[in-house]
Amino acid sequence: MSATLETAPVARPQIRRNQLLINGEWCDSVRGETFATYHPATEEKITDVAQANAEDVDRAVKAARRAFEEGEWHDMDARDRGALLLKLADLIEQNIVELAALETLDNGKPIIDALNADLPLVIDCLRYYAGWADKIKGDTIPVRGNYFCYTRREPVGVVGQIIPWNFPALMVAWKWGPALAAGCTIVMKPAEQTPLSCLRMAELAMEAGFPPGVINVVCGFGETGAAIVAHSDVDKVAFTGSTEVGQIIMRDAAQTLKRVTLELGGKSPNVVFADCDIEAAVQGAEFGLFFNQGQCCCAGSRVFVEESIHSDFVERLVDRAKNRQLGDPFSPATAQGPQVDKDQFEKIMGYIERGKSSGADCRTGGGRWGDKGFFVEPTVFDNVTDDMDIATDEIFGPVMSVLPFREFDEVIERSNKTFYGLAAAVWTRDIAKAHSLAAKVKAGTVWVNCYDVFDAAAPFGGFKMSGIGRELGEAALANYTELKTVTMSLD
Ligand code: ADP
Repeated sequence: MSATLETAPVARPQIRRNQLLINGEWCDSVRGETFATYHPATEEKITDVAQANAEDVDRAVKAARRAFEEGEWHDMDARDRGALLLKLADLIEQNIVELAALETLDNGKPIIDALNADLPLVIDCLRYYAGWADKIKGDTIPVRGNYFCYTRREPVGVVGQIIPWNFPALMVAWKWGPALAAGCTIVMKPAEQTPLSCLRMAELAMEAGFPPGVINVVCGFGETGAAIVAHSDVDKVAFTGSTEVGQIIMRDAAQTLKRVTLELGGKSPNVVFADCDIEAAVQGAEFGLFFNQGQCCCAGSRVFVEESIHSDFVERLVDRAKNRQLGDPFSPATAQGPQVDKDQFEKIMGYIERGKSSGADCRTGGGRWGDKGFFVEPTVFDNVTDDMDIATDEIFGPVMSVLPFREFDEVIERSNKTFYGLAAAVWTRDIAKAHSLAAKVKAGTVWVNCYDVFDAAAPFGGFKMSGIGRELGEAALANYTELKTVTMSLD
């Protein structure tokens, strides 16, 4: 496979599914509405996809409710649920090139990333949660009196899952894995920009043998998501996306007091001390920001660099940024593809203009790349100050802000001067400094001398306005279970 990849672009995949999946059947929306999805590198339409409205969502919720309350899934042993997740992981592995190509087509990300990062993480995540299915358990509780008291962890019920476009297939796995291991049933809405890999994964889930109604997929825009959040028979909503939409979802979910978990935006500090391995830190800063076209909620978008190495560091960083290869994401040589759509492209270009006019030094990039597709040049702003928009706002694009600093306490304070708290990183050879920063920075994940290291077993989520709850690891199972206490008299 890699030999082919090194020499030839990967072929565009066939589109097998563009309808809704409700109760195990592929169907058009009730009103027959559709929307188009585009390839961001060429701006060409890929296909039309069925667009679900509140009525379609209601049908999906009813199917999920039935599957939860009665029948095969309801009666299934936990270990058999795990076996189904393993089967799904195997089927995804067998179709990995096709799924990676779908991801590249719909999202624009380089095929090399889809194939070597996204899809292997998808498979690993599903296998990890397969192992949890029969290990979700309660406790026996020593209570006063002659009673036997124990707890049960029960599936929360029908869960609505609303995901973004930056890691379409991976977000499916992060959401399905723990929900299915726990025994929930699902109504999922993929992002309107990138529904295709989710639909194909749903088809593979049917092939794996998940009973009808366990996994339902309703495609559409924010209104479709809002219909899930508003539905009175959805027990829980798990959302990944922007902080703004997270706030709307939390407010709307209050109406029915749904359980809510939110994985939202960030403006993560990446702190480089003078005693670091400078080349490793430069590479880490490049990867931490430019990976996935800068479209990562945990992107290291504020790079704090200690003053004594600042100019050397920026020189090397600018060199690396200039050498990033942009182009056709289907070519295995491409390191950076286009942004996902025109809205994102324009938003990013707006931030670049504001960065320039606010007096930051644009050391490289700062413009559009090519004349077709939503490509943005890798951009590095130096001498950014904390109050500039490019230092405070989540840009979600290949735009890095470098901020010089002098003191440890100063950089902690400045790192924490944000509403966000998703991730942080530190580069140093001094272990006391590394642990001290890890303890003091207000972020759900801290990387030391590395960046973007994800593992299905390691929890991920935000402090402050970066979210509520944790994805991945044992922690995510809590999102999909209710704790029940049973007390029995022994008299
Ligand atoms: P991004 O800013 O990354 O595009 P959004 O937060 O806008 O992400 O969208 C993430 C997901 O939330 C998408 O699937 C989108 O359709 C959905 N969404 C947008 N608005 C709402 C809403 N009001 N209620 C529920 N879901 C929504």
